[in-house]
Amino acid sequence: MRASLAQAVDHAANRTQFGSKIHTYGAIQEKLARMTMMQYVTESMAYMISGNMDSGASEFQIEAAISKIFASEAAWTVTDECIQIMGGMGFMKDSGVERVMRDLRIFRIFEGTNDILRQFVALNGFQSAGTQLKSLQRAMKSPLGNAGLLAEELTKRAKRKAGLASGLTLQGNIHPELAQSGDLTVKAIEQFDEQFVLKRVADCAIDLYAMGVVLSRASRSLSQGHPSAQHEKMLCETWCVEAHDRITRDLRTLRSSQSRQLFNNLRAISAAVVENGGVVSPHPLGF
Ligand SMILES: Cc1cc2nc3c(=O)[nH]c(=O)nc-3n(C[C@H](O)[C@H](O)[C@H](O)COP(=O)(O)OP(=O)(O)OC[C@H]3O[C@@H](n4cnc5c(N)ncnc54)[C@H](O)[C@@H]3O)c2cc1C
Repeated sequence: MRASLAQAVDHAANRTQFGSKIHTYGAIQEKLARMTMMQYVTESMAYMISGNMDSGASEFQIEAAISKIFASEAAWTVTDECIQIMGGMGFMKDSGVERVMRDLRIFRIFEGTNDILRQFVALNGFQSAGTQLKSLQRAMKSPLGNAGLLAEELTKRAKRKAGLASGLTLQGNIHPELAQSGDLTVKAIEQFDEQFVLKRVADCAIDLYAMGVVLSRASRSLSQGHPSAQHEKMLCETWCVEAHDRITRDLRTLRSSQSRQLFNNLRAISAAVVENGGVVSPHPLGF
């Protein structure tokens, strides 16, 4: 990411178009600023987790998953934007960046695809919530212990299947007269167990963690009076404003009554495309 930024900056500082160096244009400046923030967050995450491991931490699985997801996506975006800033030159083999981009593509797939890791991140949160619910129910000495059973089952499924279709049921564990309430309970849990929801929960967790690590790094730089401290403060503040907006938007989507309809639509569109073996709508000119 440092190399991509250096190459992008070199090109932007030297390329003249429409009478000016292209780094003077807002569109290029926004790209360079966002690339810089992503590089800063990624590097901060890498050093945060490495530091924690060096200090003897043994519970770093979620942070590792978040760091892998974030770094592989940020590196992809930064390199893509580097190519964009370089224009046609960036696309050509001689620039060397297109090779970096091709090689980077695998990072979102291997060592656990980012999709599966997102579910790992979100489900781990729900898993601990489930465990808490279980202890709570035990403490209350629930006559039937159903919620405990449910939490146990949810935890098992989370580990086993990373959120596939629901197999949860309370039938046999609750009185038949309470079947409707049992169904409602299962449905409520399933809402969290759905991959559409999990992805957004994971995105929020990733953004929150990124906010934490840049706050930590920028604070250290300010406390130690680094020459780049004010620049880092700006990176941190800008990152946090946008991350807060993304989290708020994701949570609004999750809370909104329309989100269920939206997720159903996404599921239906996908099913139709799969059933049709590709695009469903006919070509506008009838080809
Ligand atoms: C160049 C290269 C080097 C590699 N090196 C190694 C190595 O050194 N060691 C090693 O162990 N492996 C290695 N691999 C394998 C790599 O880890 C796997 O390709 C990767 O884990 C994805 O598995 P898969 O290809 O079987 O995809 P699949 O598991 O079939 O996934 C296909 C797609 O379906 C999605 N998906 C799958 N299950 C679910 C689900 N339950 N819910 C939602 N979405 C789902 C995935 O996210 C993905 O988008 C390498 C692969 C490559 C290409």
